Amino acid sequence: MPVRHWHKLLVVALCLMLADCGQKTQLVNDMPLPPFGSPRHSGLATVAVEKPPAGPSRHDVNPSQWIPSAKESKWRFIVVHHSASTRGNAASFDKAHRDRGWDELGYHFVIGNGSLSGNGEVEVGPRWKKQKYGAHCGVRDHPEYNRVGIGICLVGHFNEGKPSEAQMESLAQLVRWLMARYDIPKSRVLGHGMLKATDCPGTKFDYNDLYRRL
Ligand SMILES: [Zn+2]
Repeated sequence: MPVRHWHKLLVVALCLMLADCGQKTQLVNDMPLPPFGSPRHSGLATVAVEKPPAGPSRHDVNPSQWIPSAKESKWRFIVVHHSASTRGNAASFDKAHRDRGWDELGYHFVIGNGSLSGNGEVEVGPRWKKQKYGAHCGVRDHPEYNRVGIGICLVGHFNEGKPSEAQMESLAQLVRWLMARYDIPKSRVLGHGMLKATDCPGTKFDYNDLYRRL
């Protein structure tokens, strides 16, 4: 190679070295901390492997399934609850309510958290299909909260943590649909704890977040 081209080679070599250094710096930054007492590269594996959701995802939310087959009641209230349990679904709460001597599942709808139904999945309870009064909000001198109150239960214990984003989004979608269909104003979308002395739907349930979505 002629001598006059050497400087070009030098520039190319310098560029390669710099690029290589940059990459090494990046690799050092990305390296996991020494895995004291834990499996090698466990930190990286946690990032790479996402836990698959249990059951159907919230994409299965389908308002056409909420249209009741029976003659529709004149609903006036929507009452939000939590299950105060980490796991559950409509079937497990139906069993629990029957075991307590109730006629059947007290809520009209149950919104799953990915434990025994999908995260954000809306299950329609038998009461809703029959358009039967609720059994979820017994308040002295106020039979209307059960008689014409739609009970929605989110699976979870929201004294401990918040509902998932999928649950909140499904709740908002369901409540919007019910408000429009039965002409229920936002002022009648309530939490159980607004009507009687209970933590339900949990001390960490964010009402403002729900109202913002409606
Ligand atoms: Zn409740």
